[in-house]
Amino acid sequence: MPWFRNFIQLSATFSKQSPSSSPRRAAAAIFVTRSPSLTQLLRHFSTHPQEKYPGLGPTKGDEKPRVVVLGSGWAGCRLIKDIDTKIYDVVCVSPRNHMVFTPLLASTCVGTLEFRSVAEPIGRIQPAISREPGSYFFLANCTGVDFQNHQVHCQTVTEGVETLDPWNFKVAYDKLVIASGAQASTFGIKGANEHATFLREVHHAQEIRRKLLLNLMLSDVPGITDEEKRRLLHCVVVGGGPTGVEFSGELSDFIQKDVHQRYAHVKDYIHVTLVEANEILSSFDDRLRKYAIKQLTKSGVRLVRGIVKDVQAEKIILSDDTEIPYGVLVWSTGVGPSAFVNSLEIPKAPGGRIGIDEWQRVPSVQDVFAIGDCSGFLENTGRPVLPALAQVAERQGKYLAKLLNHLGKAGGGRADAAKELDFGSPFVYRHLGSMATIGRYKALVDLRQSKEGKGLSLAGFVSWFIWRSAYLTRVVSWRNRFYVAINWLTTFVFGRDISRI
Ligand SMILES: Cc1cc2nc3c(=O)[nH]c(=O)nc-3n(C[C@H](O)[C@H](O)[C@H](O)COP(=O)(O)OP(=O)(O)OC[C@H]3O[C@@H](n4cnc5c(N)ncnc54)[C@H](O)[C@@H]3O)c2cc1C
Repeated sequence: MPWFRNFIQLSATFSKQSPSSSPRRAAAAIFVTRSPSLTQLLRHFSTHPQEKYPGLGPTKGDEKPRVVVLGSGWAGCRLIKDIDTKIYDVVCVSPRNHMVFTPLLASTCVGTLEFRSVAEPIGRIQPAISREPGSYFFLANCTGVDFQNHQVHCQTVTEGVETLDPWNFKVAYDKLVIASGAQASTFGIKGANEHATFLREVHHAQEIRRKLLLNLMLSDVPGITDEEKRRLLHCVVVGGGPTGVEFSGELSDFIQKDVHQRYAHVKDYIHVTLVEANEILSSFDDRLRKYAIKQLTKSGVRLVRGIVKDVQAEKIILSDDTEIPYGVLVWSTGVGPSAFVNSLEIPKAPGGRIGIDEWQRVPSVQDVFAIGDCSGFLENTGRPVLPALAQVAERQGKYLAKLLNHLGKAGGGRADAAKELDFGSPFVYRHLGSMATIGRYKALVDLRQSKEGKGLSLAGFVSWFIWRSAYLTRVVSWRNRFYVAINWLTTFVFGRDISRI
């Protein structure tokens, strides 16, 4: 526990006793993080002259078997958290060193929550990654998998560091878990990738917040025309699923509570438009959907039914040629397979995700598993592809960690060693329900197992309270739970933070 270690170190610093006689010093020494020795490290990294790239070679008999996890999202992090590090060394390869608590990401765009409140560093999720000599986190993208030789090919992420070119390396695995998620779908709509902002990562939320605050400030400066002011302050959200609706709700709250008070000069110019091709919140109960439409409209969100056909730098064009100028454009129309998943030459599930069986295995290759948004049941399993949800990804990660721990204990941790072992019960998914906030202290809670099923569905303030309590308990660590609670309280008392840092 860091607080205990800090406490011990602090008391040791203030202690006047000699180091050898101080019991506090002795305790402090025990809690100081043990770094791997240089020889231990060198043993793991090989640069064979005949190999093009450096990397981690296959594990040796006296080392623990190695689980390589691609991705640090809901699925990968849950697996990393639960994997038994006495049995396995864990290597996580991901272009980000933290997990994002996505259900609360929309709240960071308008300053209800701070960015760090929704980001959990990998080293805190699984401390062995920063301590154990054979466990690592590599800031890199996996660029390919050599299934025959049990190796992944990676390229470092050096974005923003102009003096450093990215380099390639390889990591050998005993077990490989692909948890690389999905990517935002734009359905090939012209200009969407270039001009819209997606809402999937913390840096997207930062970009939206900066743009929103910049536009608010510029529209107050003399010399701007009324038409330009209206455009700059028009926030357009494309996609009426839970993410698009939650973001629109957060924005309208921000406008009503904060912009009206602190940007009073421009309050009549700022508007939110939500564009959806079909029904908004189509997976929710009809009654809840109608309630959401009523509440959003009351909050000033303009709902437009339409199909976007073209995205330009300052406007979107719908299929009926309606033009909608915008200052901030947020795109949230669902997800599809990433370029990395598309590049893997293995059988795919309907929709292009990595095909898996009931044990999360990729059946065509040995020792490879896939979990979360990047995976889907193969057609021959007779099971449907599960929705791209955190609750699916997290439970798949939990299930697979248990399965790998079981295999490791049964002597099947090494490459090709689990062929004859019993994999136990298959993964079973039971939907726990859906929730979405719609602003103004209101939310929807739909506890039905499926759209046709029966079950409790609620809307209003009580649902909002359930939504907040549920997510507060689901936030990964006590540290972030504390941050979230404090951010909510600060926003309630003092309003949102509107500084453009
Ligand atoms: C704004 C928002 C709100 C949401 N709200 C909810 C909600 O309320 N409830 C709910 O159930 N679901 C929600 N979701 C969906 C949920 O977040 C996803 O289903 C979930 O994140 C999927 O987890 P995952 O681990 O499969 O993928 P992700 O969480 O997307 O993680 C994928 C990881 O793989 C990494 N990666 C990508 N490519 C590579 C590569 N080539 N090599 C190595 N690593 C790679 C990524 O950097 C990332 O770390 C929301 C999603 C968003 C965006």
